[in-house]
Amino acid sequence: MNAGIMTEAKWEKNVRKVTPYVAGEQPKTEGVIKLNTNECPYPPAPGVSAVMKELDCEKLRLYPDMNAEKLVSALAQYYGVKPEQIFVGVGSDDVLAMSFMTFFNGDKPILFPDITYSFYDVWAEVFRIPWKVCPLDEEFRIKKEDYLKPNGGIIIPNPNAPTGVPENTEVLEEIVAANPDSVVIIDEAYVDFGCKSMLPLISKYDNLMVVQTFSKSRAMAGIRIGYAIANEKLIGYLKDVKFSFNSYTMNMPSIEAGTAAVRDDAYFKEIVGKIIKTREWTKQQLASLGFRFTDSKSNFLFVTHESVPAAEIFKALKEHNIYVRYWNKPRISNHLRITIGTDEQMSRLVKFLTNYLKERDND
Ligand code: PMP
Repeated sequence: MNAGIMTEAKWEKNVRKVTPYVAGEQPKTEGVIKLNTNECPYPPAPGVSAVMKELDCEKLRLYPDMNAEKLVSALAQYYGVKPEQIFVGVGSDDVLAMSFMTFFNGDKPILFPDITYSFYDVWAEVFRIPWKVCPLDEEFRIKKEDYLKPNGGIIIPNPNAPTGVPENTEVLEEIVAANPDSVVIIDEAYVDFGCKSMLPLISKYDNLMVVQTFSKSRAMAGIRIGYAIANEKLIGYLKDVKFSFNSYTMNMPSIEAGTAAVRDDAYFKEIVGKIIKTREWTKQQLASLGFRFTDSKSNFLFVTHESVPAAEIFKALKEHNIYVRYWNKPRISNHLRITIGTDEQMSRLVKFLTNYLKERDND
């Protein structure tokens, strides 16, 4: 870089400078066992491919329905709520970003766990929201008392990520009830894999919002659909901000494909069931290899080995085209997050680890 570029130009003092979120790698090479971004190893519901094949491209001339009514009604029917209680966005990242912008406008810091989805502090920074982390305990559980202090809003994922640890809905309810002055967002990106949803409580608490996604349990990370469910007033505020930003976030193919996915509940339950079964099998296998982990209720495991450093295992796996996620961050630098793939993928992972650990012992 030349010196002219290195020195700060005068206009740069007005730039909104941020450190962006770093997403998991999407390798371009063939033959990778990709267990690093919590995608679903199965295809979306058959109705989704049908919709995509039959897509009438002529219709793309027109703007999509800015209210995504078809998708919103399908979701409303599925969850037994009114369409006015649903907000859809481009993945739950979009929904969450809009929510931070909409609801977290106070002077007090918003609260979230110290080990959690690493986008929360990025949004807080980009929107200039004061924030404070609440350390999880040694078992990676939240400490309820931390959330009973003055705050400008709360966001907690359930189950948490990247730990996979679920929280009792009773504890979360106490937090919601104790914070009538703040919006409490429960990020349920992984809730379908065996964790209890807070949805039944949205009619009881006007400050509670639940956010879910099509990216994991509905096998549609590539289409980008997420949604929030809450009371009409809260959703109304969220829509006001969204429509002040971009009316057409939901494109026409997404609306069609998303609707087809919601309508096929049997397929949804089938793939979620398979992932849960594979997860429990993988837990047993990894335990016998000396790994310890939380009792994850998500589509990933958060593991540490009794003697081999996580960074080393991560490197060895990658060299053998098995991608998992590793963060060199305080408290979790000896852990790996492993997405649950198919039975075959997980068998290959276990086989590799068995050999790797054996050979390492012999060295
Ligand atoms: N919340 C959590 C806890 C996540 O792990 C993710 C996935 N990275 C998201 C939200 C966002 O997922 P998406 O935008 O694909 O819906």
